[in-house]
Amino acid sequence: MKRDDLTSLGMGGNKTRKLEFLIGEALEQKKDTLVTAGGIQSNHCRLTAAAARKAGLDCHLVLNGTPPENPNGNLLLDTLFGAKIHFCNREERDERLFLVADELEEKGKKPYVIPVGGSNSVGSVGYVDAMLELVNQMDDLSITPDAIVFATSSGGTQAGLALGAKLAGFKGDVLGISIDQVQAGPGPFPPVLTEIANGAAARIGADIRLTESDFSLNYDYLGAGYAMPGELEFNAIRDLACHEGILLGPVYTARAMGGLLDLIKKGYFTKDQTVLFWHTGGTPELFAWADQFGKD
Ligand SMILES: *Cc1c(COP(=O)(O)O)cnc(C)c1O
Repeated sequence: MKRDDLTSLGMGGNKTRKLEFLIGEALEQKKDTLVTAGGIQSNHCRLTAAAARKAGLDCHLVLNGTPPENPNGNLLLDTLFGAKIHFCNREERDERLFLVADELEEKGKKPYVIPVGGSNSVGSVGYVDAMLELVNQMDDLSITPDAIVFATSSGGTQAGLALGAKLAGFKGDVLGISIDQVQAGPGPFPPVLTEIANGAAARIGADIRLTESDFSLNYDYLGAGYAMPGELEFNAIRDLACHEGILLGPVYTARAMGGLLDLIKKGYFTKDQTVLFWHTGGTPELFAWADQFGKD
C-alpha cells in the first residue's frame, strides 16, 4: 500500500500533491486567495483550505449541500482552517465558483481558481512526480507490482499516474476504480483523462502523448452513486480497520478497496501477483457517516 492518506498536511490525502503545484502557480502569479468547489464532505476543499493557510493565502470554498446543524468531518475542518464557505445547489456550483472569484476581484482581491478536485494539467503534475517516487521506492525494495489500484473521480490522479508510468517505463496495470456515476461509461471520462495527461506532458516538456487506451478503468463498483456508501464500502472499512489498523474513507478509498477485494475474490487478480493499493486518503469522511456504520 502506498500511503497518501499520510501526506503531512491537514489529515492527509491525494489533493496535497496536486496543491503543491497549484499553489506554486498561484504564488508565481502573485494571487492572494484560493477559490475552489466540491461536495460538502470534499477532501479536496479541506486540503485546499489547509494548504492556503500554510502558504499564507485566504481561501473561499463553494460547497454543494445543505449546511448541517453540527458541522462534521471535512466540513468541520474547513471551518477550523478559517475558510469562507459559500453553500449552493449542485446545479449552480460551477457557475457559482466563478461568481465568487468575480466578487473577490471587484473587492480588490487576487483570486486563483482551482477546478473541482484540483484536476487540471498543473495539479496532475503532482501525480507524475508521485509515480516516479513510487517506482524508485519499488526499485529499492526489489518489488515489481503487476497492478496499481486506486480510486478515480475527477481524473488528475489517474492522468498523472498514467503519464508517470509511461515516463518511468512501468509496465503494470494502473487501474482506476471509478467512484463517480457521472463518469460511468465508456463515454465521457477517458477523453478528460487524456486531455489532463497531455496538458501535464506539455507542461513538463515530456515528448510523449497519451491516448484513451492508456487508461485502465473499472466502473463496476458505483453502487448507489457518488457519496452513497453501502455494504461494499462499510465492509472494506471494517476489514482494513480490524486486520491492518488502517482507516479508509467511505466515499473513495473504501469503494476502491471494496472493489479490489471483490476483484481478488473473483480471481481477476491471482495469488502470485503483486497488487499495490494506492491509498488516496479521505479518512475524515468517516465521521460524517458514523451513524450508518458506527453502531456494531
Ligand atoms: C479526490 C479523491 C480521489 C480521486 O482523485 P481524482 O484525482 O479526483 O480522480 C480519490 N480518493 C480521495 C480520498 C479523494 O479525495
